[in-house]
Amino acid sequence: MAKALKCLKEGCTFEVQGSSVDDVLAKLKMHAMIAHQMPQLPPDLIEKAKGSVRDL
Ligand SMILES: [Zn+2]
Repeated sequence: MAKALKCLKEGCTFEVQGSSVDDVLAKLKMHAMIAHQMPQLPPDLIEKAKGSVRDL
């Protein structure tokens, strides 16, 4: 099932879509690195992101 995840950064409306939770998390990491200069996501943010992934 396809998954979607909104960027957790306040004020950012970016949304990633992927084929699995790992896929959307990987894409979110790429987005965070490029758009927010965050090469490393803190573990608590990753956990929060995992909980925010929704089914399409
Ligand atoms: Zn963002």
